[in-house]
Amino acid sequence: MKKVCIVLALLLVAALVFGGVEWNQAKNLQNSLKTAQDEAKSIQGQLDAKVKELETAQADLTTRTQELTDNTTALETAKAEMEKQAADLQAQLTAELEEKTKQALEPVAQELENAKAELDQAKADLETVKNELEQAKAESEQLKADLATAQEELAEKTRALEENTSVLDTVKAELEQAKADLEAKIQEFTENSTAMDTVKAELENAKNELEQNVSALTSKAAAAADQIKLLTANYQGKTVILHSNDVHGKLDGYAYIAGLRNVLERAGANVVLVDAGDFSQGTIYVSVNKGAAGVDMMNTAGYDIVTLGNHEFDYGYAQLMENLQNAKFQAICANVLLRENGESILPGHCIYDNGAVKIGFFGLETPETATKVNPGLIQEIDFTTFDRLYENAQAQVDALKEEGADLVVGLWHLGVDAESAANGYRSVDVLAKVNGVDFVIDGHSHTVMTQGENGEPIQSTGTQFEYIGVVVIDNETKTIEKNTLVKTEGLPKDSTTEEAAKSIMEAIDAEYSSPFATSTVDFNGDRAPGNRTQETNLGDLITDAMVWCVVDGGSIEEADLKKVVGITNGGGIRAALAAGNISMKDINTVLPFGNTVAMIRVTGNELLEALEASTFCTPDAIGGFPQTSGIVWTLDTTKPYDKGDLYVVNGKESTYYGPKSIQRVSIESVNGEPFDPEAEYIVVTNNFCAAGGDTYAVFYRAYEAGNGFDTSIAMDVALVDYIRAQLNSAITAEPQGGRLTIK
Ligand SMILES: [Zn+2]
Repeated sequence: MKKVCIVLALLLVAALVFGGVEWNQAKNLQNSLKTAQDEAKSIQGQLDAKVKELETAQADLTTRTQELTDNTTALETAKAEMEKQAADLQAQLTAELEEKTKQALEPVAQELENAKAELDQAKADLETVKNELEQAKAESEQLKADLATAQEELAEKTRALEENTSVLDTVKAELEQAKADLEAKIQEFTENSTAMDTVKAELENAKNELEQNVSALTSKAAAAADQIKLLTANYQGKTVILHSNDVHGKLDGYAYIAGLRNVLERAGANVVLVDAGDFSQGTIYVSVNKGAAGVDMMNTAGYDIVTLGNHEFDYGYAQLMENLQNAKFQAICANVLLRENGESILPGHCIYDNGAVKIGFFGLETPETATKVNPGLIQEIDFTTFDRLYENAQAQVDALKEEGADLVVGLWHLGVDAESAANGYRSVDVLAKVNGVDFVIDGHSHTVMTQGENGEPIQSTGTQFEYIGVVVIDNETKTIEKNTLVKTEGLPKDSTTEEAAKSIMEAIDAEYSSPFATSTVDFNGDRAPGNRTQETNLGDLITDAMVWCVVDGGSIEEADLKKVVGITNGGGIRAALAAGNISMKDINTVLPFGNTVAMIRVTGNELLEALEASTFCTPDAIGGFPQTSGIVWTLDTTKPYDKGDLYVVNGKESTYYGPKSIQRVSIESVNGEPFDPEAEYIVVTNNFCAAGGDTYAVFYRAYEAGNGFDTSIAMDVALVDYIRAQLNSAITAEPQGGRLTIK
């Protein structure tokens, strides 16, 4: 306020100073002063208001300060309380914590206790170990000491050894020499040992041979004793039946049965000579003359009564009857009948009557002949079968009894083969069905027996004169006194019969080794490459001959001629046939097995199977490799053989597997006509393949099912006949080739 007043006073002074200058000016100044005064007054008012506001604010502040002071006090009180509470809380928490800590620590303390105990134990153990260690250490010290001693000794010994080395070198050299000597000796010994082994084996063989010889000699001695006993007995008042069966072309055997007959007759016996069949087939000596030589030999030997075997029909009914035209013996057979009138082709029975005893004989032929012989060759005849066979036999017995026979003897070609049992065609089966038969002389199964399996009175001599059957009958009692077999070898021979056999056989042998044809062709007898791997000219020739002999023999009906094919196994072709002269012996060298030509009916599919199976390993060689006639076929060796099941032949497992499918073989044509897998074909093969030999199980199945038969024509004979008859004994060109293409 004072400042404002001072300013105003100064202004007033200034205005007074300068007012005198001019009035107007003074007037202006006066106005300005007035304005300034007003302004001062306004400012004074404003200042007063501000002071007033300030005083209010100050009062307010005082109040607020008081309030703050009050609040502060309250806060301090609250703070004190809170601090107290906090202290209480802390005390409480501390107590709780102590409690909890105590609880938690107790188990730990226990564990700690345990751990401590373990630790103590470990400590104790450690102590023990430590003790042991110390002990070991002590021992080790001892060992060390010992080692040192040993080392010293070793060193000493080494020194000694070194001193001895030179000695040792000498010894070593000596030893090496000894070793070399020993090795040489071992070598020598080994060689000796091998030699010894050989000697031993030889000795073993010699021993076996000796044993066999001894055994053979023993049985020979026994047989000789039997023979002597038989030959030296008194046969006064006796009738003796001497019998053979299944001679099968052994012509030189007849001299023995005739010789035996001579001896027994000299000793007072009445002798009757009989045969139970199969005298027409088996060797070239009867096959080249179609059985005629068998009849001739029995004439010479003086046979009385003969029945028929199945092989009597091998060359056909007509041929047999022609042969029998020359027979000086009585042929009997009750069960082979002419188809046209049902009459027996031969008398069924006959009586041998020597004035003292009447022996009735009746003949039976196995009904199996119907399936064992080429049906084309026996169309004129039938065989009584099953019950009719038994009735037939009984009728013979009854007739013989009626005609006054003291004894009834069956002269039968039935045998005891197991395969004959199913139809009841064995001799034992027939004997069981027929009453009044005193004795049976049997054939067909080549059995050596003096009685049946169950003691039946049946006797049979085997085959090819292995034995001669002897049946001694007492004329007084008219009963059979004994029956026995005597070994043929060593018996006295009838010289007339021996000469007759010799002359037939020598003639055939001479014919056999002399040339009967010529050839300009070399025929391939090689194995591989050859007959076991591919078509050969020899395979072509042989199969052509096989087919020819069946067709030419009239076994195939006209309508079937285009269905005939030939197959033979290449393994059966054993030698080459060189250009030049050809003898039957040469042919037999090519085909030495005595196999016969067989025929089988199969479907086209079965034919394919046979060819597929028989070439499964081609181009590798195989014995079953098919040499063929009549078919044009292809073998694709690039395709695999689809191997199927193991073949089973006659109940035995084969070594070959059939094809699961046909992959390699195809047939283009059969005798120029298209091949039909569903059609039936006639396979001309050999009896070995027909029996399922090699890979030909499919032929076996067909054969066993009754769709085949054996012609009994020997393969070599078929080939000889073919060269003679069809090629006019001159081979001037190879057979038509190109039958098989191998890819
Ligand atoms: Zn027979």
